Amino acid sequence: MDHIKKSDPIPEILSDCIQNRIIDLKSELIDLRRDFHMYPELGFQEFRTAQKIEVYLQALGFETHRIAGTGVVALLDSGKPGAVLMLRSDMDALPVTEVSEKDYKSKNEGVMHACGHDSHMAMLLVAARVLKENKASLTGQIKFVFQPDEEVAGAIRLVEEGVLENPRVDGVMGIHIWSLIPSGRVSISPGVVMGGLDVFKVRVTGKGGHTGYPHEAIDPVIAASSIIQTVQTIQTREMDAQKPTIIMFGKIQAGKKANIIPEEVYMEGTIRFLHTFDPDSSDNPTQKFIRICEGICQAHQCTCEIEIEHENIPLVNDEKMVRLAKQTAAQVFGSPDIIESGKYIASEDFSEFSSRVPGVFIFLGCANKEKETQFPLHNSRFNIDEDVLTKGVELHVKGALEFLKEK
Ligand SMILES: [Zn+2]
Ligand SMILES: [Zn+2]
Repeated sequence: MDHIKKSDPIPEILSDCIQNRIIDLKSELIDLRRDFHMYPELGFQEFRTAQKIEVYLQALGFETHRIAGTGVVALLDSGKPGAVLMLRSDMDALPVTEVSEKDYKSKNEGVMHACGHDSHMAMLLVAARVLKENKASLTGQIKFVFQPDEEVAGAIRLVEEGVLENPRVDGVMGIHIWSLIPSGRVSISPGVVMGGLDVFKVRVTGKGGHTGYPHEAIDPVIAASSIIQTVQTIQTREMDAQKPTIIMFGKIQAGKKANIIPEEVYMEGTIRFLHTFDPDSSDNPTQKFIRICEGICQAHQCTCEIEIEHENIPLVNDEKMVRLAKQTAAQVFGSPDIIESGKYIASEDFSEFSSRVPGVFIFLGCANKEKETQFPLHNSRFNIDEDVLTKGVELHVKGALEFLKEK
């Protein structure tokens, strides 16, 4: 990673030239975003989306190839030796019905780009265009990666299919549009910036019966309700207070009628955490969760089946990559607008890349009350201040130039 340490600023002429070119492309950028917005597609069903990305990149002279079904990868080879940087955008939308009066409202009923992935794709496509135009100023190679199914941890499939190889990636950068931060600001922090996520499914089985004769049955409802209460003590009694952990039950199913003790209770939920740990250590909240579920079931004479899906590991930003991203952001935004907003406990599968190669994940503020873009991510009224998108493109382009600069 020596090339990161030796970073001098990009020559001013080139920097201004890039900025002006991106401003010239602003309407193309917004058109791309609105088009993706109108035709949102769920994870691994991004068929139209992938095709649009391919058409755009191929028109620029890129060779594209598919990965994980609907993922698209393109490589920009400067022809000069050097490092390999991966720039990543996610592609998928959410099962949310959009509430909007805008003419670019979702045309796919019940599906919406409520997490801003439409803007991520638009920014990365325009960045690919500008970087290709500036190929003569580059060294090494840039891999543009459009990834399906971020919302259900699709990144691991790209890793398994070799996205970090051929050529081997030396660093990875991603940007997420972020409505918790005002427009015109950007957050770049070292260390853990997004949480890990385990999803659990618990089935508590007792013995059904008449609610008038509970002594002849085994009530799984009382056991399940005890589980729901007791696992909340994991955060307050078993974890270090500096290691926030959230355990939530999103689905509980049991019973058919008021006077019947049901045979079983089925529950699903999430365990989120903001720290990294060895799975066998006492820092693992999911191990504690399993212990409490099994212990309570035993106490109530029920049986317990537990299924855990390790959906995302925490996203950790590499310190050198953070330094480089901050240098870049200082050119794009000016230093006072770079903040360290810290950690967000929501999870992001970019962690699958950044746990394997040094990475940085940047939060690009887009909240502006006058433009009604302050709604939370995943909300049916979520929208973006499109004026920040040129800044995102500039971060990609100048970040790549900084990263790839010759030793
Ligand atoms: Zn999301
Ligand atoms: Zn997202």
